Amino acid sequence: MPADIIIIGAGIAGLSSAYELAEKGASVTVLDRGRAGMEASWAGGGILFPLLPWDYPEEVTALAMRGAALYPDWTHELLSSSGIDPEYVRCGMKVLEGGRSMENAAHWCAAHDVRFERGPGGEWFFPDVAQVRNPRLIRALRASLESRGVRIVENCEVRSLAREGRRIVRLGTSDGNIWAAQDFVVCAGAWSKMLLEPDLPGPDIFPVKGQMLLFEAANMLDTILLKDDLYLVPRKDGHILAGSTLEHVGFDKSVTAARMLHEKAAEILPGLAAENPVRQWAGLRPGSPGNVPTIARHPDIDNLYLNSGHFRYGVTMAPASAKRLAQIVFGEPSNSGI
Ligand SMILES: Cc1cc2nc3c(=O)[nH]c(=O)nc-3n(C[C@H](O)[C@H](O)[C@H](O)COP(=O)(O)OP(=O)(O)OC[C@H]3O[C@@H](n4cnc5c(N)ncnc54)[C@H](O)[C@@H]3O)c2cc1C
Repeated sequence: MPADIIIIGAGIAGLSSAYELAEKGASVTVLDRGRAGMEASWAGGGILFPLLPWDYPEEVTALAMRGAALYPDWTHELLSSSGIDPEYVRCGMKVLEGGRSMENAAHWCAAHDVRFERGPGGEWFFPDVAQVRNPRLIRALRASLESRGVRIVENCEVRSLAREGRRIVRLGTSDGNIWAAQDFVVCAGAWSKMLLEPDLPGPDIFPVKGQMLLFEAANMLDTILLKDDLYLVPRKDGHILAGSTLEHVGFDKSVTAARMLHEKAAEILPGLAAENPVRQWAGLRPGSPGNVPTIARHPDIDNLYLNSGHFRYGVTMAPASAKRLAQIVFGEPSNSGI
């Protein structure tokens, strides 16, 4: 039986879209060419705040702040429905003095009602910044979706979109099945543009590699630390995540920056100099000009939608983007100003 809606890509964008569309009564299937949530959405830091939001266009602030505001209730709901705790923690974020200008920070905070404190060393502390633990968020979301009847199909790569006039009629996939639906949503992360081309014009979405290191270093840190582009995120169980890089190297996910990240991490938190990282990895962000995602109906195809290109803040933006997407699919006006 055809689903009402097929979502291509089971990262945080695809799974959160499925959540909102199912909430509105749609029958939803999500296809992923690998395992659900194992690309950028697994690799990220889970910080629920743009790193230096005053440097971004207002659209980024609007989506990120709305997303961050939805997280406490959303993660609570996910915990209740799945039994898996996404570890939402309001741990605050301290920005240490570095080469980046904080000139617009106070004005931006006043305009967006964001609390901050200044420390004696010139650092800025944002007490309301929170984090989630990405792999746990994905697992909780997946379990919650499956309990609501959303079908998640793994190892199913979408290779073509068969079109009749202004409609997509079915998908060509690696599993050989015929996947047909009323509507389709592209949430294929860094691969979104590649999926649409060469048949359809797509938004400018490109891969931007980010590398991460994980330390087992209990009790060294209780708040997120940021200096220039390097951040440290303390997890609930004592792990510390250090990231990240911003590399334009195509779809290459090799890990090459462990030493550089370790040195920079130890500059911010000297105790890490003596620790050996327990794990390292890289992920591909769905980069977009200005960090502004595309949440829209495709201009040439009436039953094709996109929710992709969230670049550095796709986890933060996920619940807000998904709500916006669901409103567009159901032809409802925006009630949140985004
Ligand atoms: C190192 C790093 C640190 C980050 N830190 C943060 C942070 O602290 N806070 C924050 O908010 N964001 C952060 N981000 C950004 C965030 O992780 C991304 O914006 C977000 O995960 C993008 O989600 P997505 O679902 O669009 O993409 P993805 O998670 O990459 O999911 C896309 C999915 O589509 C599937 N797919 C692709 N092509 C096809 C196809 N043809 N057929 C079927 N399936 C397909 C893929 O297999 C994949 O599972 C970070 C990212 C990285 C890499």
